[in-house]
Amino acid sequence: MITDFEKIDVENINNEIIEKAAGILQKGGLVAFPTETVYGLGANGLNAEACRKIYEAKGRPSDNPLILHIGDISQLKNIVLEVPEKAQKVIDAFWPGPVTIVFKKRDIVPDSVSGGLDTVAVRFPSNKVARLIINASGVPVAAPSANTSGKPSPTKAEHVLHDMKGKIDMIVDGGSCPVGLESTIIDVTGDTPALLRPGAVTKEMLESVIGEVSVDPAVYKMLSKDQKPKAPGMKYKHYSPDADVTLVVGDEKNVIDKINALCLDNSKNGFKTGVLCREKNVDKYKADYVLSAGNDIETAGARLFDILREFDALKADKVYSEVFEESGEGLAVMNRLKKAAGHKFIEA
Ligand code: AMP
Ligand code: MG
Repeated sequence: MITDFEKIDVENINNEIIEKAAGILQKGGLVAFPTETVYGLGANGLNAEACRKIYEAKGRPSDNPLILHIGDISQLKNIVLEVPEKAQKVIDAFWPGPVTIVFKKRDIVPDSVSGGLDTVAVRFPSNKVARLIINASGVPVAAPSANTSGKPSPTKAEHVLHDMKGKIDMIVDGGSCPVGLESTIIDVTGDTPALLRPGAVTKEMLESVIGEVSVDPAVYKMLSKDQKPKAPGMKYKHYSPDADVTLVVGDEKNVIDKINALCLDNSKNGFKTGVLCREKNVDKYKADYVLSAGNDIETAGARLFDILREFDALKADKVYSEVFEESGEGLAVMNRLKKAAGHKFIEA
């Protein structure tokens, strides 16, 4: 398959590109497009066969459900049975935007989208290109991140091209994704709203509109074999670059000394080392490659997946990362970092 790559100017939208993308979706093809979180790999979300192609292109396990993306709030009632009061509050406060809500699904939503569950996850993205494509297609669009399953999510069109070239019909390049982490997922189908995946809409922000939110244990730690995750996708390893990633915990000075000692050992053994750290510490590390997560947690979120992919491009063998406080967006950054590291920590 030849993958069509089209750059779109967000300030001056070329409608031909939008129409072409929408036409492919209508015909059951796959189109990758930008959203404010990460690039999505879109298919007609009501067409089971089109959704099956998503799993094939990504190499995604079939019990890992997809999120349906809508381009207008009026589409919601066609795919969900009811909108609970707390869901409505989340919608009013944060849609369009980087938060996904789990609802009871209508029968029209195929099993290949819901992973066989009686619920469906829905998001209304704020990204203009995403909304134009979804609305032009006239259907809800199933769109997981446009990466090979298990690899860091794509935050730039080049990342999508790297993973999906020859496997999908079209890539629409709308520049870098500003949030850089996948959407927050909140399940409001039970008594207490449950945070299934942290993101840029933080637990604290959600609690300010709907009160207490419980955090699924899988957000913090790896589940043991006999623990069943609430969302099937939560059990899979994610976001891992080729390099072996380890998180280093402790006082800042100890962390820097420990990582530098490891760098020395690695270079003696012929391994290339990468370090992911705060901007202010960049000059303190003696690694082969030191990449900056910036000065604040939002920048760390926006850069994280790009940095993990950059370590692969540089062929780093081992990567050490500083850790971040698990509050606000830090909960999301640490959730992705822990998964990238396969939950491997060392104490400095
Ligand atoms: P992504 O791979 O970024 O598209 O994320 C999809 C994730 O959304 C899955 O891995 C699940 O964790 C979650 N998800 C999708 N549908 C549901 C659902 N019906 N109930 C709970 N979680 C869901
Ligand atoms: Mg994904």
